[in-house]
Amino acid sequence: MSTPLVVAVDGPSGSGKSSTARGVAQALGLSYLDTGAMYRAVTWAMLQQGTDLQDPASIAGAAADVRLVSGTDPQAPTIEVDGTDVSAAIRGADVTASVSPVSAVPAVRKLLVERQREIIAGATDGIVVEGRDIGSTVAPDAEVKVYLVADPQARAARRAAEEGGSDAEQTLAALARRDAIDSSRTASPLVRADDAVLVDGTHLSLDEVVEAVVGLVREVRP
Ligand code: C5P
Repeated sequence: MSTPLVVAVDGPSGSGKSSTARGVAQALGLSYLDTGAMYRAVTWAMLQQGTDLQDPASIAGAAADVRLVSGTDPQAPTIEVDGTDVSAAIRGADVTASVSPVSAVPAVRKLLVERQREIIAGATDGIVVEGRDIGSTVAPDAEVKVYLVADPQARAARRAAEEGGSDAEQTLAALARRDAIDSSRTASPLVRADDAVLVDGTHLSLDEVVEAVVGLVREVRP
């Protein structure tokens, strides 16, 4: 019997990872894990508690106390902090502005990477995992690795639309800031794993990107 399938979908903010990863999971009947939601939920909890986000030691201490539960149904992914569903709250501008500095703290990454590996190990029917460091660090043995990119203008336009028509120029600058922090941190930065397949979604519809990734899965699991 083969081991459960793991599909890693990494890439910068706004490249369409979430929609793609969910679409692939639904098409193939796999579980789905949004690791960005985990970093966002930890950040949300710290903002609630008033943790000093300038101080990595305070961040590391606070992270250890956050009780996270990630739902892995691609139809309705959920994330809970201490029993409260924070799926909507973690998309707020305050969380988005603070999540990259929080995610750069090595103790936070260590903790969440461990949890992510546990969730992946428990997904006996296979799982699609999206993030920044899945193919490189969290699941280096994933059978399919995709690095999804899109041109910055296309990413900003998509994000601005998702955020209810916010200013595309500002969104572009915010995405660039987040990418810069995510790519330059020392602990598992945003990086394309050597064996990840680059998929450029700039000129593709969501269905086409999903189809491309499903095609890659079919190559290893006909
Ligand atoms: O994917 P999303 O935009 O929700 O991720 C929010 C933030 O979480 C990213 O900008 C990044 O700082 C962090 N993140 C990370 N590693 C991951 C997933 C997300 O550092 N695997």
